[in-house]
Amino acid sequence: MRSDRYRVGMEEAILRSSFEEVNEQVARAGELLGLDSGIIAVLSACEREAVISIPVFDDDGAIEVLSGYRVQHSSARGPRKGGVRFHQSVNLDETRALASLMTWKTALVDVPFGGSKGGVAVDATSLSARRKEQIIRRWTRLLVDMLGQNRDIPAPDLGTDAQAMAWILDEYQRLEGFQPACVTGKPVELFGAPGREEATGRGVAGITRAALERGGQSVDGARVAIQGFGNVGRNTALTCHELGMKIVALADATGGVFNPHGLDVLEIATQSDLLHANGGERIGSREVLEMDCDVLIPAALGEVITDENVDRVRCTYLVEAANHPTTAIADRTLRQRGVTVVPDILANSGGVLGSYFEWAQNIQEFRWPIERFRRELDARMAIAFDITVETAGRYNVDLRTAAFIVAVKRVADAFTLRGALG
Ligand code: NAD
Repeated sequence: MRSDRYRVGMEEAILRSSFEEVNEQVARAGELLGLDSGIIAVLSACEREAVISIPVFDDDGAIEVLSGYRVQHSSARGPRKGGVRFHQSVNLDETRALASLMTWKTALVDVPFGGSKGGVAVDATSLSARRKEQIIRRWTRLLVDMLGQNRDIPAPDLGTDAQAMAWILDEYQRLEGFQPACVTGKPVELFGAPGREEATGRGVAGITRAALERGGQSVDGARVAIQGFGNVGRNTALTCHELGMKIVALADATGGVFNPHGLDVLEIATQSDLLHANGGERIGSREVLEMDCDVLIPAALGEVITDENVDRVRCTYLVEAANHPTTAIADRTLRQRGVTVVPDILANSGGVLGSYFEWAQNIQEFRWPIERFRRELDARMAIAFDITVETAGRYNVDLRTAAFIVAVKRVADAFTLRGALG
């Protein structure tokens, strides 16, 4: 995410950060709900923020110091929950914005968590497994007092995976004792939950189907373009394919491929990235956002649809699998053009729902079969979709504003009932 940008308002250009953009949504929802301005101020601030230095040896044996973060936005509804991101663009403002989004996401899908986010400013693709392990272990050691199954529970995000969560589990156990629920998104062989890995993508695909059906458009053969082919993009593509949609474009950091007649997703998914993917015309990593399609699914970085490229985006539905992929001004432009934007806090909430199932199974020391995991995921995503659509109708607002109305009300109610000012 860019940490600031110019928004061309009615009369003037205003400098805004990612966190401010999220807080604008919070304020709008709060005003529509008639909340006291003091409560809106509480919901717009983070409870606690940690900025850490992580010294590591580079490949030549020299010491390098990386910046790491953990931001806890809210614990009003339960322990904070949020991913750990390894990417060169990670910074404090972005982490605040993502932590806040986690609060609204956990509330929207009604799981007993608050919101947090963390990360390290480092290019994950440049790291050997050994350096990645060193960094995530140091990150865990420095933040251990903030973490734990009842305090703050990390999960995978951009640039981190199940293996990284296993290292967090192990480092946490060395310092605090056995507690498998202290982190989610773990390997199935190490207290992970069958179904968690695919959960975000499965949820995105299910929400895409629901949005198409609501719009009266056929799911079968709907043309889908996806940016990102990591955990989320890959599982989204596979599940959309399973549901009968046609994947016409895919791209990741290595470039991509486009075929208006549909790509062979099952074959492409056997490869680790899209560098050698074929079966269509080669396209660039960003170009995928401008392909002619029914559904566009950004599933990689934040703020990829901006005032700079929004006029070239050609889709009827934009389903936000990535967190905050659309800037506020681009969002407004798309809505004015009649594009249905399904917001991130709804579209990608399968990830946190899956994490909740894993956390609950770890605490109960009881493993669900994958069928139960999928059934519960699909049912809860459908409930979140329905309440968002119903709220959009009741308040006569777009889906993003509606999702924030539902979430902000739940968090504000919990905060107020706690008597938390005392
Ligand atoms: P990942 O690291 O597994 O995959 C990231 C993908 O993005 C890779 O395919 C990578 O090549 C691609 N990418 C990176 N830079 C790119 C660029 N400049 N252009 C095009 N593609 C690029 O990450 P992930 O877990 O799949 O997360 C993707 C997004 O989904 C993130 O925004 C994350 O916050 C969000 N998300 C993830 C989860 C989850 O459960 N993993 C849950 C909710 C939201």
